[in-house]
Amino acid sequence: MKKGVAALPTEQLFRIPTNGVPVSLPPLVEPASELTVDEVRRYSRHLIIPDVGMDGQKRLKNAKVLCVGAGGLGSPALMYLAAAGVGTLGIVEFDEVDESNLQRQIIHSQADIGRSKAASAKDSVLGINPYVNVILHEERLEAENVMDIFSQYDLIVDGTDNFATRYLVNDACVLLNKPYVWGSIYRFDGQASVFWSEHGPCYRCLYPEPPPPGMVPSCAEGGVLGVLCASIGSIQVTEAIKVLAGVGDPLVGRLMIYDALEMQYRQVKVRKDPDCAVCGENPTVTELIDYEAFCGVVSDEAQEAALGATITPKQLKEWIDADEKIDIIDVREQNEYEIVSIPGARLIPKGEFLMGAALQDLPQDKKIVLHCKTGVRSAEVLAVLKSAGFSDAVHVGGGVIGWVNQIEPEKPIY
Ligand SMILES: [Zn+2]
Repeated sequence: MKKGVAALPTEQLFRIPTNGVPVSLPPLVEPASELTVDEVRRYSRHLIIPDVGMDGQKRLKNAKVLCVGAGGLGSPALMYLAAAGVGTLGIVEFDEVDESNLQRQIIHSQADIGRSKAASAKDSVLGINPYVNVILHEERLEAENVMDIFSQYDLIVDGTDNFATRYLVNDACVLLNKPYVWGSIYRFDGQASVFWSEHGPCYRCLYPEPPPPGMVPSCAEGGVLGVLCASIGSIQVTEAIKVLAGVGDPLVGRLMIYDALEMQYRQVKVRKDPDCAVCGENPTVTELIDYEAFCGVVSDEAQEAALGATITPKQLKEWIDADEKIDIIDVREQNEYEIVSIPGARLIPKGEFLMGAALQDLPQDKKIVLHCKTGVRSAEVLAVLKSAGFSDAVHVGGGVIGWVNQIEPEKPIY
């Protein structure tokens, strides 16, 4: 009986020309001295691939890979890195497992809800492969600890979904000359690349500036197709293995773009930017900076508008109960409004304020109370209202999530 179905070797069909320039690189990691008999049995399907073989598998055994985050991308990445026999896996994660994670973060299960994600991920990794040495870093990655943590590893796999951490990871990798295997997911779209300033561009060469705050929604705000994590996470693991063992042409200098709706992968060439702030010829970033400020997690205007104009969910409840003359406006999107909403709130999505269209319909005789999911988008809209003369408008700190937690805990959060 044949086990599994073999795919045709692609070189016997044709090689698709790329518009990037593939580069072969020597193996990143020296081989371990030997594999045990148990390891030979376990990794036999790798060992019989000529390009991997005993030598490649020994290199994986000796490899130390750090995964930043054990969430959507970190889940498949850690599981496949473990199964592949990467000898040491580090996990940076300080969060706890939430029910809303389980739709895509398959390294955790129902019984793990409320547990530390790092501990849950470690259990799953050891369940897959007990020969892996797992090191947990249960702390938020910051400029103060990133160099110390990264210096213990050969390669960094990034599974974070915020810009501040990405720029932090990139700059630390450039300063330490570590390959940075990056992936990004949103709804049905994914991107991946390998940034390695010694051999090609870095993340800043591709994206010199973070997007304006509030312009690019996170997965928590915009959603993500769960299985997309596997599509992009598996590209990241493939690239990590190739770089560690020196197999094939890594995704250095190329950006892979995946569209799940069209089911298309395309790639674009990414050039090293000679003017790059961190890896260019005259770098201006020569040490780590304040990444939260660099990415302006909330814009200055929004911060200023929210000052003295932020109310708590409890305050809002008191106003509703007292029948105050207020107009509660939810600035999220329709589908979010359908999941959960604050009683009496009407929906006007943020975009309609930014375009200016929503302003003329606002009442002049009522106090405007804005809210969104957590208070970021509503602060941005608050800034628009304040500058349009609605000086007594306020927004709800913590948004509908805060409302549910404090006022209506029987309602769902997302
Ligand atoms: Zn660069």
